[in-house]
Amino acid sequence: MSLPADYHMHTPLCRHATGEPGEYAARAVAIGLTEIGFSDHSPMPRDDFDNWRMYASQLDEYVAKVRLAQKDFPNLTIRLALEVDYLPGGEDWIRGLAARHPWDYFIGSVHYVSDGWAIDNPQKISEWKNRDAFEVWSAYFERLTQAAETGFFESSATRTCRKSSGIARIATARRSTRNFSTRPKNTIAPSNSTPRGCGRIAGKFIPAAKSLNWRFKKACR
Ligand SMILES: [Zn+2]
Ligand SMILES: [Zn+2]
Repeated sequence: MSLPADYHMHTPLCRHATGEPGEYAARAVAIGLTEIGFSDHSPMPRDDFDNWRMYASQLDEYVAKVRLAQKDFPNLTIRLALEVDYLPGGEDWIRGLAARHPWDYFIGSVHYVSDGWAIDNPQKISEWKNRDAFEVWSAYFERLTQAAETGFFESSATRTCRKSSGIARIATARRSTRNFSTRPKNTIAPSNSTPRGCGRIAGKFIPAAKSLNWRFKKACR
């Protein structure tokens, strides 16, 4: 049985990945993949927004890198995509990004539940101590729902808790999921899942409460 495609891969332009697209492609061929997709973090309107994404001026360079890999590996299907952070009010920026290139897909991502704090940034993980976990996860799922409702995204990248997160956070995440898992009707659902948890548009919400609970249990074991 062939391995599933990985659609969630970054390049060094995001400042937290190593390996050029051509290197990933060579590895993909070596292990028998027939398809992969690059989805680097999209730039933000302000380059100093954070330090883990490409600058706005590097978008064309990113596309060129992926195009070069496509040319060098004609027998491997290489998709061109972006992982786009959804922030309320950011719709025009996302629309502008979408118009820049013929993207194969956008992964909708929520890292920020409030200005300046990405909930899974290892450098800012201590901020959890200052927050109410239920409020954080409620805001997270609210934004994830809003992101899904924009219609910009073919899939979503979901955050999972870390081992250090503790039981309280798992419990509150379960409560949060229950609140939101029935709301969106035509958004994003799990299918063609990648190991990182992408799901294509279908008719359900991802993460479903059940699968999320499973993931939390597994991640926090
Ligand atoms: Zn990512
Ligand atoms: Zn990343």
